[in-house]
Amino acid sequence: MSNNIQYSVDKDGIATLKIDMPGKSMNVMSDDLIAEFSACIDKVVADENVNGAILASGKKAFMAGADLTEIVTAYDRGTTPVQGYDWSWALSSVFRKLETCGKPFAVAINGLALGAGFELCLACHYRVLSGHPGAVLGLPEVGIGLMPGAGGTQRLPRLIGMEKSLAIILQGKKLKPAKSLELGVVHEVAPVDELLERAKNWLMENPDPVAPWDKKDFRVPGGAGAMNPKNMQAFMVGTSLLAGNTQHNYPAPIAAISAIYEGGITPIDAGLDIESQYFGMLLSGVTARNMVRSLFVNKGAADKLIRRPEGVEKSKVTKLGILGAGMMGAGIAYVSARAGIQVVLLDTDIEAAVRGKAYSENLLNKAIKRGFSTEDKAQALLKTIHPTIDYADLEGCELVIEAVFENREIKAAVTAKTEAVIPPDAIFASNTSTLPITGLAEASIRPESFIGLHFFSPVDKMPLVELIVGEKSSDQAIARGLDFIQQIRKTPIVVNDSPGFYTSRVFSTSTNEGMTMLAEGISPALIENAAKMAGMPVGPLAVMDEVTLELGYKITMQAASDQGEDYEFASGFPVLRKFVEDLDRKGKRFGKGFYEYPEGDKKFLWPGLADLYPVNDEQPAVQEVIDRLLYRQALETARCFEEGVMDHANDADIGSIFGWGFPPWTGGTLSFIDTVGIQHFVAECDRMAAAYGPRFAVSDWLRQRAEKNEVFHQI
Ligand code: NAD
Repeated sequence: MSNNIQYSVDKDGIATLKIDMPGKSMNVMSDDLIAEFSACIDKVVADENVNGAILASGKKAFMAGADLTEIVTAYDRGTTPVQGYDWSWALSSVFRKLETCGKPFAVAINGLALGAGFELCLACHYRVLSGHPGAVLGLPEVGIGLMPGAGGTQRLPRLIGMEKSLAIILQGKKLKPAKSLELGVVHEVAPVDELLERAKNWLMENPDPVAPWDKKDFRVPGGAGAMNPKNMQAFMVGTSLLAGNTQHNYPAPIAAISAIYEGGITPIDAGLDIESQYFGMLLSGVTARNMVRSLFVNKGAADKLIRRPEGVEKSKVTKLGILGAGMMGAGIAYVSARAGIQVVLLDTDIEAAVRGKAYSENLLNKAIKRGFSTEDKAQALLKTIHPTIDYADLEGCELVIEAVFENREIKAAVTAKTEAVIPPDAIFASNTSTLPITGLAEASIRPESFIGLHFFSPVDKMPLVELIVGEKSSDQAIARGLDFIQQIRKTPIVVNDSPGFYTSRVFSTSTNEGMTMLAEGISPALIENAAKMAGMPVGPLAVMDEVTLELGYKITMQAASDQGEDYEFASGFPVLRKFVEDLDRKGKRFGKGFYEYPEGDKKFLWPGLADLYPVNDEQPAVQEVIDRLLYRQALETARCFEEGVMDHANDADIGSIFGWGFPPWTGGTLSFIDTVGIQHFVAECDRMAAAYGPRFAVSDWLRQRAEKNEVFHQI
């Protein structure tokens, strides 16, 4: 057996079980640890000299939860619901053994305890939590397609009531120390160096080895089941809200709420059994595999810079230059200043530069109002943003990001002016949305230091940055660009240069399909609602209004003029042209587009759509509209992959979810193909190509992959 737990007994007969997994920065619940832990409980019970035990951690945090690298392979290993149940029960029954062993267990929670780590704390009879703000408790499983499977859905409601637990479990809310104490989730909050002493005091002075729910006449606080009107409200409204928000794409929240409800009206042992049954169902399903893989494992790897070229020294930006203080420049300035970087924000006139800085001021004022910042902190941050029109101020910048107008000549001019003042080893990055990086780098005297850093709007909210590698971009430049993305706490993907790169190219296929369907006579409400039912944040017409039809039009015209006669306009372009050229309905920013935007009221689809594109008597099934939207995006991603725009399926998936909101239940665009099965995918694309046009045509490369049934992800 490995040595994950250090076991000792002091002169007062108090055993300490210190969990300290060798070679790991964080304790995680693994099969190994469970077996060892179970043996330690037996030892505590068997030793007559031991009166009680303290559970502690040898790491900075208490425990992160279950080892998700074990969980992510479950679906592909063919795990059945029964095996999933067994997996959950193996852990749950050990926790129950601890709880009912007859000797008191106190836990010293010295830092974060999430998922199974928190569930272990809930099974202990006494909980002392560190007062450090990082010592958060929570059950985040639903966010990655799972649910608590080691008693969380049973013990938390029995401790603090159904209603409060629902919010914590369904929304994955993390509890800070003060909140944990206020809710009664822990018994004490104390400075981290006093935790063991406090735990021991309880064990020495008034130990109680029986959990509240194992006592006679126990009642769930606030009542359980259908007998309590308040709970009924929470369950009835809660389930309909869930159905509305998730459109039944996500089985996890439904399973969790069912376990809470059903388990709450039974004795705890039956409740734990019910929980494990629901857990088993989720673990054996494909949604959990997709979500754990993309949202946790692969996103985590991207955040740790898995794509960083080797052999380049780690770098940090202390002074950043930003060219153009418009919407994007201002947002980049804010997130960089927030990461402690000195920012020089340059525009053509000082008013524009100052306006760019005011964007940060606005965001900070909102943060202060909501209690997330203070006046002092805001002022300190604002001092680090220097608005200017003087290129000399860029001296000493290790990185400069260009975010001026989307125009090659202007971009070339600012590149030259900047390179004249910045250090020779500085990196120059363009935030262009469409212009190929290799072409822009022609204006640079050091194209090896030239990369693309494609941010998304609004920069402070959007988590992704697409790093674009130009033909001449060096490993140095890529590594340092990635270091910067990590420094500002965003998630990177690395893509190779090509028109529209990855995200803009694939995203536009969805809006194009929306406009094409509109022109075909499919009801615009059906198009918009089908997209939302598939799990996209908004419909393709609404999103087109948001990014503005004008932008889509300009990008198309630029591409058409670049490519000349060979350029093939997309199927939805006639709609775009009509709205921009004839109707002057250019999007939300202009007050009108596919939607009307009445002041102070909700937007609604423009009634004139019905005259322009009369709705057919016969409408397609909702699923057909959903499939057109999802398959079109997935197919374009496969083409990007085939063309080498990105080298890793993981990047494609992460980019699609975090860049433009491709439904997370799918795991991302390529994961979607694996999920429906590549052979089925190709057959469906063939059918759609015949019905709707060659944009659904499958390449030989993809067809050959399908013939071999080759998946994009090995796990
Ligand atoms: P914007 O029009 O809001 O801002 C551009 C700013 O650049 C303006 O303040 C303008 O005064 C300034 N500028 C123009 N010429 C300049 C010069 N010679 N020197 C210094 N400043 C100059 O545009 P934006 O939306 O912030 O877009 C900027 C860039 O980012 C574009 O390349 C765009 O394609 C790209 N981008 C935009 C988005 C988006 O959603 N808006 C997303 C990703 C990338």
